[in-house]
Amino acid sequence: MKTLRFAATALVGALLISGAAIAADTAKVNPAKSADIAHHGLKATDFPRWHLLAPNIYAYEDTLITPEFTFTTNSLIIVTTEGVVLVDGQDNEARANGLIGAIKKITPQPLKYVVIASDHGDHVGGFPTLKAAFPDAVYISSTASLKTMQGAKRPVLATEIVDDKRSIKLGGTEIQILNLGRGHTGGDLVVYLPASKIMFMSELFDRNIFPPMVTGHPSEWVATVKKAQAMDVTWFIPGHGFTAGPPDVLKADLAEFLKAVELVVSEGKRLHATGAPCPTEKDCPANKQANWGPYANSTAAAGQAPRALARMYSEIDGKLPK
Ligand SMILES: [Zn+2]
Repeated sequence: MKTLRFAATALVGALLISGAAIAADTAKVNPAKSADIAHHGLKATDFPRWHLLAPNIYAYEDTLITPEFTFTTNSLIIVTTEGVVLVDGQDNEARANGLIGAIKKITPQPLKYVVIASDHGDHVGGFPTLKAAFPDAVYISSTASLKTMQGAKRPVLATEIVDDKRSIKLGGTEIQILNLGRGHTGGDLVVYLPASKIMFMSELFDRNIFPPMVTGHPSEWVATVKKAQAMDVTWFIPGHGFTAGPPDVLKADLAEFLKAVELVVSEGKRLHATGAPCPTEKDCPANKQANWGPYANSTAAAGQAPRALARMYSEIDGKLPK
């Protein structure tokens, strides 16, 4: 009996230890759910790279490098018999040259349109270089993004505006530029290809990355993603984070990303109501009380979580841009 009891105690002890080990493991990053290229055995020199999503439609990835992590910054290249449409650029001259080289390798067709789906510097900084290579391309943005780029002294090349919807037919390919609502920048656009059911979400979808909300509209972001999910889409392509993978995994990761945005909204409301302060991302004691659940280990969470919380507080306090 004694031996048995000892054995039983040892067994319980072992279970407790393995339980603790499991808890510790789940606190670590799951590489499959990380946007960090290092977790996938990749180096910055492995980029740029691109792959075919459907005939003549390419997802293009270069890098956004920080001291803590490196993830991809993505563009969409649509090739038609009457020219190329590019959705989102890259952030500087060197990366723009990478993009120009890719377009020229893929097709002799000239660049006809550039859709500015995100107005942030990492997606527009290389446009002067792109413009020099393809001087006749027409740049398209929303009014809100045009104003943002003017105010932030980013390259301002947009001469055409889409505030609701515009359909371009080029070489038999229909390309819909849609404003589904605000999310990441306030001027967010998406590009939808009805024939191949591809939607380039730009930064409305930052795959396996904690929602970056420095210029975000948290509650509206939720509604905007839901609108996209309600459409007939097979491929949801993110603005950051890997573009490859089976369509159902991309879809599931978008649903996960939406949950993370919803969690920012609900944790923001909960913590704001407790009086826990978060006046700025740098002064955000409330973040220590936040429960970010599985998203606590998302790529960039350490920096983005207090930023997102401060932004949500601004929304609650009615301080976001109208
Ligand atoms: Zn970005």
